[in-house]
Amino acid sequence: MGGFFGVAAKENCDFDLFFGTDYHSHLGTRRAGMVTFGEDGFSKSIHNIENSPFRTKFEKELSDLKGNMGIGCISDFEAQPILVRSHHGTFAITTVSKINNADAIVEDIIKDKTHFFEMSNGEINPTELVAAMINQKDNLIEGIKYALETVDGSLSLLILTPKGIYAARDKMGRTPVVLGKKDGARCACFESFSFLNLGYESDRELGPGEIVVFDADNAKTLVAPGDKMKVCTFLWVYYGYPSAVYEGVNVEEMRYNCGKLLARRDNVKADVVAGVPDSGTAHAVGYANESGIPFSRPFIKYTPTWPRSFMPTIQKKRNLIAHMKLLPVHELIKGKSLLLIDDSIVRGTQLRETTEFLYESGAKEVHIRPACPPLLFGCKYLNFSRSSSEMELIARVVISELEKGDVTPEILAEYADPDSEKYEKMIEGIRQKLNFTSLRYHRLDDMLESVGIDPENLCTYCWNGKE
Ligand code: SF4
Repeated sequence: MGGFFGVAAKENCDFDLFFGTDYHSHLGTRRAGMVTFGEDGFSKSIHNIENSPFRTKFEKELSDLKGNMGIGCISDFEAQPILVRSHHGTFAITTVSKINNADAIVEDIIKDKTHFFEMSNGEINPTELVAAMINQKDNLIEGIKYALETVDGSLSLLILTPKGIYAARDKMGRTPVVLGKKDGARCACFESFSFLNLGYESDRELGPGEIVVFDADNAKTLVAPGDKMKVCTFLWVYYGYPSAVYEGVNVEEMRYNCGKLLARRDNVKADVVAGVPDSGTAHAVGYANESGIPFSRPFIKYTPTWPRSFMPTIQKKRNLIAHMKLLPVHELIKGKSLLLIDDSIVRGTQLRETTEFLYESGAKEVHIRPACPPLLFGCKYLNFSRSSSEMELIARVVISELEKGDVTPEILAEYADPDSEKYEKMIEGIRQKLNFTSLRYHRLDDMLESVGIDPENLCTYCWNGKE
């Protein structure tokens, strides 16, 4: 998906920019970059972080990136931030986006006899495309507004100019933008915890579609937030780091709530509760606390030699890496009935392999409890490395088999209803395919209750197809 950090300070901002950006490393695996602005103008650095973490790649260059303002990003796809020279002057831009209508926007813009450079996959760099949209209008504010309105998908961004940093949140608020402040500096970022150890305190979260500009002293709203929001619920379930807070709700706490509500509906007699590391662990803590079944760690992630960002693009290799990272603790598995919580089941391949691995290590039973409902629709709004085509989702595979390929939106709506017969059949089909002893998903209503904000403000598209 990606994340960003921007800072405007009275002094040199390189230290805050470096660590603030680094604290977004869990959100992307491919590229990272920073741009600063100071007395000598703009300086930029971008690296591939597929095989080595952000800090290792950038620490040698830190002394070259001088300035009192800067933006940085961790990106799951394109190289960014990019530096642009246009009628708005020179500016640097970084985005967190998914642009479904990119082709139509490109066609519209190249009508005026301009051009784009293609990336090696033949696509246009999405951040460059957003810059081009912004350049269609007479001033930056109108340009940013136009880009937010035009993109089908999602778009949040930071723009660094010699006069200050513009921050804008997606028009439906799918991804967050948070402002922080301390004496002599202000910042804006995706992850609210990224500035805490740098001495900032939280100022506020931007609302959907809100645009602000800030310098070291002040942050000023240029476009007020809209009243409709659909923030991604998966941020709490999976993507977000445990210390993150979105819409005032902490990720770790939400996961405890998920586990608690899962346990309240459950009656299985397991010996221990465990979570699939990392995100499943907090859900499991919540389950164990509520059910009284002891929490344990029957397998441990071996992280010292596996950089977090190492994520091969080929699915088979990714599964192998995921497997190689897990070490069994035989003493905690042998002869035990395990209740295992994962954040979600996408294709099911990885969880099936984990389950086999537990059986091979002597587990008597493996009960699976995903912390969100069955995924029925591919996400249209966010770009993330774990995404799959809709038809690869295990729930869709099973539905297609049960319905002999004839799957209409009405039929899918029935499968999404946890009180329906079709839902029961789908769950049993998934259980058999993945060889679990038992399977019970979190219900959508319980998951929304676990977040605790107005459900109208939460995106639930990937579970029920509602936009
Ligand atoms: S469809 Fe799912 S993953 Fe995508 S934004 Fe909505 S809740 Fe998040």
